[in-house]
Amino acid sequence: MNHPKRFLLANLAWSSEVAAREPEFFTQLAQGQRPRALWIGCSDSRVPAERIVNAQPGELFVHRNIANLFTADDANASSVVEYAVHALEVEHIIVCGHHHCGGVRAALSAPLDALPNVNRRIAGLRELAGRHRAELDAIADPDARVDRLAELNVIEQVQRLEASPIVRAARRPPQIHGWVFGLREGRLLQLTEASAAV
Ligand SMILES: [Zn+2]
Repeated sequence: MNHPKRFLLANLAWSSEVAAREPEFFTQLAQGQRPRALWIGCSDSRVPAERIVNAQPGELFVHRNIANLFTADDANASSVVEYAVHALEVEHIIVCGHHHCGGVRAALSAPLDALPNVNRRIAGLRELAGRHRAELDAIADPDARVDRLAELNVIEQVQRLEASPIVRAARRPPQIHGWVFGLREGRLLQLTEASAAV
């Protein structure tokens, strides 16, 4: 069976099961959302935001891109953060990176001609790797080096969000959390925590 067909059938089973267990569930969903957290994660298929924290529909406002980046010139990410902070008034922003990240690995390798858009997106990551060259070079295992850069990248994005005028202008500035997901254990590790309060 091809994938899309399997997903449609799975959705039918899931929606029936939820409705049987909680008859008001979808009616309530349709009334509006009030998520308490914005999740900024990587697009990687192995790091499904809601699944790894067991969140229900309505709990997380989600933005995902390659290597969980937030930059001021990214209209997509900026509009998501703006809506989350000013319209939804989320209390938390979670930046979640992960080990074995392909986007981070790419930033430690030569650019690929076939992926010009990816190259542009991860230019900041190359620059970040350059800033931490000594620490990264001291790590002998190439996989561990990628994982460490993924962690440094999370910390960098948390700092960017903390300094962002969008976040700072919030009526109630959210707390910003930096997490990394370890694929081998399926565990989240807290790396940093910041508040954008002035
Ligand atoms: Zn990734």
